[in-house]
Amino acid sequence: MSRGDAADAATLAPDDAFAVLANETRFEIVRALWELYEPDDPANVVKFADLYDGDTAVTFSELYDRVGYGDTGNFNYHIEQLTDHFVRRTDSGYELTEAGFEIARAVIAGTVSERPSIDTAEIDATCPRCDAPVVVSYENHHVKVSCSQCLGIWQNAAGDEGVLFTFAFPPAGLSHRTPDEAFHATLAYNFNRIRSFIHGVCPDCSSVVEGSLDICEPHEPGGRGGCPDCHRRHRIEVSTVCNRCKSVARGPLTIAIFAHPTLISFLHDHGAVHHFASWETFHLAQTVSEDVVDTDPVRIRLTVPCDDDRLQLTLDESLEVVDAITKLSVDG
Ligand SMILES: [Zn+2]
Ligand SMILES: [Zn+2]
Ligand SMILES: [Zn+2]
Repeated sequence: MSRGDAADAATLAPDDAFAVLANETRFEIVRALWELYEPDDPANVVKFADLYDGDTAVTFSELYDRVGYGDTGNFNYHIEQLTDHFVRRTDSGYELTEAGFEIARAVIAGTVSERPSIDTAEIDATCPRCDAPVVVSYENHHVKVSCSQCLGIWQNAAGDEGVLFTFAFPPAGLSHRTPDEAFHATLAYNFNRIRSFIHGVCPDCSSVVEGSLDICEPHEPGGRGGCPDCHRRHRIEVSTVCNRCKSVARGPLTIAIFAHPTLISFLHDHGAVHHFASWETFHLAQTVSEDVVDTDPVRIRLTVPCDDDRLQLTLDESLEVVDAITKLSVDG
């Protein structure tokens, strides 16, 4: 066993990886190692730190019995094909590499094989624009939340849907959850991913992500759900993209700013305990005003009210806060 095995797994060419896995017995070996893996065994949790003596690998005979394959010589050949890339050999047997776990998670843990759904339901949460109850539904791996009364904060082609957000959410997340619980889990899952993107780390592959701002020039949402030009109520959208795995996060700057420590401490100073990964962030975002005060270099001013005071943040193009002023109500 060596760390080099893990490095090899990451450098396997994609077409070779597909060739290795395009075999039922090899896939059953990955499945058996996944099923026999005990995630809460400390020796598995703290791997490669030499803290625990135990080797938790599965022995050849246990693996052979589990898969139920007829011929040992041929079975050994299939294990050899997987070894180094998807399976690691240890002193006592075999275990999955990180690449092996990724295959198991994607295929066995339900991301692609299950099709759960939730019935469209009104839930115990209110619209940030009009306070009416919101409606949650699920389609094509996305949770969609709309207002039951108003035009929402996005304008679709027909201009009539009341959309508040759509977020990707794996089907596995719907299991054992009510529509209310799925709604809050969707926010927690996506906002924590967004926080990772804001910190420059892709939550899917850990690569560097690139951020950019999409500022709508003729922005005019008026009384509609969103502006006819950019389809949204907010003027400035943040886009972050991982060029390696093509994961992406896009959303209002007025939401992203609630992950900033200056804003969190401003709210704290006013007695408010704010959790970024929450529906409250959507509500608070609607109270933030956004102004483009300069375009060369780009300077954006966000004004956040709390009680009768205001926090005024000036950001540059890379979303660094270059100036922060707290305006107290006594200042006028
Ligand atoms: Zn509404
Ligand atoms: Zn990535
Ligand atoms: Zn616009």
